[in-house]
Amino acid sequence: MDDPPSGLLPAAGIYCCVPRIDDHDQSTVDRRELRCRDYARAHGIEVAPAAVYADTARAVWKPEGARPGWMALLAAVERRRIRVLIVDSPGALARHRAGDLVRLLRSSARHGVALHSVGDMWNLADPAHRRTLLDRATNATRSAQAVSRASRTAHQHAALAGRPHGGGRRPFGYEAGMGALIPAESKVVREIFSRFLEGETLRAIASDLNVREVPTSLGSVWTVGGVARVLDAPRYAGIRVFRGQVRAGDGTYLLGAWEPCVGIEEWEQVRALRSPHGPTPDDGARESVQRHEYLLTGLVECAACGHSMVGSIVGGYRMYACASTRTQPPEQCARSIGAASFEAHVQQDAVRILQDWDGARVSSLPMVGHRHPDAPTGAGHAGVVVRSASAVDGIATGPDAGIHWPRVPLRRRAEALRFLYTVIRVGPKTTSRGVFDPGRIALIPHPL
Ligand SMILES: [Zn+2]
Repeated sequence: MDDPPSGLLPAAGIYCCVPRIDDHDQSTVDRRELRCRDYARAHGIEVAPAAVYADTARAVWKPEGARPGWMALLAAVERRRIRVLIVDSPGALARHRAGDLVRLLRSSARHGVALHSVGDMWNLADPAHRRTLLDRATNATRSAQAVSRASRTAHQHAALAGRPHGGGRRPFGYEAGMGALIPAESKVVREIFSRFLEGETLRAIASDLNVREVPTSLGSVWTVGGVARVLDAPRYAGIRVFRGQVRAGDGTYLLGAWEPCVGIEEWEQVRALRSPHGPTPDDGARESVQRHEYLLTGLVECAACGHSMVGSIVGGYRMYACASTRTQPPEQCARSIGAASFEAHVQQDAVRILQDWDGARVSSLPMVGHRHPDAPTGAGHAGVVVRSASAVDGIATGPDAGIHWPRVPLRRRAEALRFLYTVIRVGPKTTSRGVFDPGRIALIPHPL
């Protein structure tokens, strides 16, 4: 273990970032920072002022996306400004930001920074875990390079042979006959799902895949229809279709033996958006429905197992369900709560907070305010805006809060709620089915 010598408390830093849109764990950046701080406290590590490095924009997950918090962190490691670092959810970095993780692990080793981690099964304080993660991330960066080489070659071959078909039909992402997952292609499948859920059109997705020369399973170019077929196919969520049905008589999904590319929730969200009775295919409307269908996304946590609870359609109803249902037993936890009453309850509480709002006081708080990236970092954040009071700009406070709140667009309401609360925990069911029980819900407001 890399615990610091006793009696010595080296300056420690924290890194956390906004979750990727398809991440099981949709905890907010605040919540992630909090769990790093809890870990630090429990291990006698003192987090240095101005050493909380955070990336709050989803762009951090894009290959060339801005990652100001990350760059500041690397600079701090390289200049030896911190000697201990607590990283939130290193597994997600290994999966989706492999190059970043490789650089951090190497740089930390070179500069003698002791690593710790929270948020997932990985423990960066354990050299064996570090080695495994480094291997995986290194392989991922290599295979990404190999994919781009292989896809160029595949295109050349297809073009030379003058054939639109690459031989045997096989579903994109898998060996023929729903065989082994093809890692590079399954990554593209996940990308298609997440980009669609982020509001991109089928045309934009197809055209970008073609620009990057990613071939289809037939070695041809992507069309709007080809992207649609990926989004609509239950197989990518591991669901089997039998006689046109995806569910068994008891209403549960029929599951295939193959490894899924995406979670059932993502597939259901996509299906809801693409359903003829669902939202219109118009980009703006579609995006707004997706983002706002679940007002409390990123805020809700299962009090039993600590996983985030994510918006899901269960038996045709909007629910928040514990994300651990997607892991294997014994970790499985089936906790869920109906979305409508739950959201109404939280909004009622939020209105109460807004009625007592003291805007001048709130924006004068060092932790909040309308901070700029280059603002003084005395509040403990490394020059990155972690939360801004602008989330409640334009939202009526005081006696009229209750009248105005329902008229605020859902997107703004969701932002305001994420500003008002650090986390909302959902406890066990205490009443009979179908009866809403506010006693299950623990609202943890952000300390203001
Ligand atoms: Zn749970």
